[in-house]
Amino acid sequence: MEKFDFIIIGAGVVGAMIARSLSRYEVSLLVIEKESDVCMGTSSANTSIIHAGYDPLPGTLKAELNVKGNKLWDTLAFELGIPFKRTGDYVIGIGKEEIDGVEELYKRGVENGVNGLEILKKEEILTKLQYLNREVSLALFASSGGIVDPFQATLAPLENAVLNGAKILLETSFEDFIFNGKRIIGVKTNKGDFYSDWVINAAGLYSDKVMHKAHVHEEFTITPRKGEYYIFDRNDFSIKEVLFPVPTKASKGIMVTTTVHGNTIIGPNSHEIEDKEDTSNTEEGLTSVYEGARKLVPTINLKHVIAMFAGLRATGNARSPNPNIDYNHDYLIDILPNLGLVNIAGIESPGLASSPAIAEYVINLLKDANVKLKEKKDFNPVRKPRVRFRDLSNDERKKLVENNPSYGRIICRCENVTEGEILAEIHAPIPAKTYDALKRRTWLGTGRCQGAFDLPRVIELLSKELNLDPTEITKRGNNSKFLFRKTKEVQNAVKRYL
Ligand SMILES: Cc1cc2nc3c(=O)[nH]c(=O)nc-3n(C[C@H](O)[C@H](O)[C@H](O)COP(=O)(O)OP(=O)(O)OC[C@H]3O[C@@H](n4cnc5c(N)ncnc54)[C@H](O)[C@@H]3O)c2cc1C
Repeated sequence: MEKFDFIIIGAGVVGAMIARSLSRYEVSLLVIEKESDVCMGTSSANTSIIHAGYDPLPGTLKAELNVKGNKLWDTLAFELGIPFKRTGDYVIGIGKEEIDGVEELYKRGVENGVNGLEILKKEEILTKLQYLNREVSLALFASSGGIVDPFQATLAPLENAVLNGAKILLETSFEDFIFNGKRIIGVKTNKGDFYSDWVINAAGLYSDKVMHKAHVHEEFTITPRKGEYYIFDRNDFSIKEVLFPVPTKASKGIMVTTTVHGNTIIGPNSHEIEDKEDTSNTEEGLTSVYEGARKLVPTINLKHVIAMFAGLRATGNARSPNPNIDYNHDYLIDILPNLGLVNIAGIESPGLASSPAIAEYVINLLKDANVKLKEKKDFNPVRKPRVRFRDLSNDERKKLVENNPSYGRIICRCENVTEGEILAEIHAPIPAKTYDALKRRTWLGTGRCQGAFDLPRVIELLSKELNLDPTEITKRGNNSKFLFRKTKEVQNAVKRYL
């Protein structure tokens, strides 16, 4: 019987940050994730903004954790080697009717304790950003806004947790709790039973279903809210700023922004759906993204688009814990000591920005509940990022290749990803075992050709290193195979038929 102090359900950014924070202490810890890799839920498909914190309503848990979380990112990114840039961000008011909205955000930001806010007049903003819609009336600039690589933001803390003793099991799906009387003592999964003193529910879109299995918060439900995006080829179209429109009640609106890798992205729209797995793009949705983005930057042209994607916000119906606020989409984070359960749910945007503060909040809940958390003497907060060939100077590349010739073999031409980088990821503390796992880690296949060049070589490498037949290599686990039969088998079958 495998027994742990803590089991965390879900390896998204929230589960990852909590795992890392808990691994500071002398505790045994298991993370279970139903997918074939970490960061395959909402954390993998968002706008990747580290929000300043002027948007959430003052007094909500969202506002508190967003502002606290934002401040933690410099140290976190430094310690864990996460690509992060404090770019600052703009909210662009178009026309006189949006002036009030910009001023309202400034006031909210001040109330939430956001530093570095500035209102820019029409002439100032147009001098800075000449490509903007000439109808711009007023803008808010927040110097503490930033952008991050959301995959590394999830992988790096989890890897750090694993290096500090945590265990992670992928393709391991929570099915039910195991009770001793009224106390939870473990979880049933598709891979067997695991026991623990505490279970931490960080299951994202499914966190409502998980807590309902413990018969708590029966009234709490999560409705997925889809957001769709276009990504542009950075060689053909490049906006280097982070631009928000004035938000609506439903969402922060359609942005024009950049990724840490330099690709412009536009989106997301916002519409409620029923299916928690439906990340398809729709013609209607993408049209609204294009129209929304052109409101900020009229010259956007879809001929430079290289990919589309969609993410699902885990919108909950939790009331704000502050009784003075009438707000029904706050984060639900609570501890139920009698049950041995911590719930983290309804973590829609700005959940990525807030995630390090959510982890701190959970640690404090545990300490307040008298859970013994003794700091490890040998906790290592540092996780070194692995080498990225494209970021090196020619001299550095030369030295690297002399030491290890596999870094001299380019596998992905658009993004300059080498065989050495792929091998390092396949043998990393949380190994990449699928094509998409390598894509998330190295950025291969994300350029203009979208993997057309690298795919056969990547399949070959995965198959050799994992000692699997090429037909067993998948895109994202389960049945997402690339190859179904060997060519000779097909030829022999045809001969037999003839
Ligand atoms: C369109 C969009 C734009 C956004 N933009 C931003 C932004 O710019 N900035 C920002 O701060 N936030 C943004 N967010 C919000 C942010 O992405 C989320 O708040 C954050 O990723 C939530 O992380 P999570 O770990 O709670 O959820 P997830 O990443 O979904 O992780 C939950 C994990 O639990 C696993 N799981 C579920 N059920 C089970 C089970 N039964 N057994 C085992 N594992 C299970 C899932 O597979 C998943 O990996 C955006 C969200 C969307 C959808």
